[in-house]
Amino acid sequence: MQISKNSVVQFHYTLSDATGEIESSRQHDPVLYLHGQAGLIDGLVEALEGRQAGDSFSVTLPVDKAYGPRQDDAVQKVQIKHLQGAKKWKPGMIAVIQTEQGPRQVSIVKVGLSQAEVDTNHPLAGKELTFEVEILSVREASEEEIAHGHAHGAGGHQH
Ligand code: ZN
Repeated sequence: MQISKNSVVQFHYTLSDATGEIESSRQHDPVLYLHGQAGLIDGLVEALEGRQAGDSFSVTLPVDKAYGPRQDDAVQKVQIKHLQGAKKWKPGMIAVIQTEQGPRQVSIVKVGLSQAEVDTNHPLAGKELTFEVEILSVREASEEEIAHGHAHGAGGHQH
């Protein structure tokens, strides 16, 4: 069957930018997701639509179909105690901060005594990204999965 709304899809991917590989699902489990659920970037969802199990493809997403352009004015000062993910911070590290829109990844620019400067751009913002994708399986979602808005693994409900 072809991937469409309410398909449950299992796939492996390797993500790279102009300078090389960034991450790959091949070091761990494949991605399992419900087509139509939030979380995957738009360009990848569009590229998966209509594909089927066994398909392999590569898609290069322009910046606006990936994580959007980098904002130059996105550097902010935050209290170090509000940075989540590590005890000690150094420039270049990725932290999570809570915002009104939910958790957000930021990059540490500078660390002071009680405050840090963070760049709130997504770490992959401003990059053209290439996904190499291998689709392992496609099936219809169960009513339970549709009600929950996410896919369940082989063992059923796991959360
Ligand atoms: Zn569930």
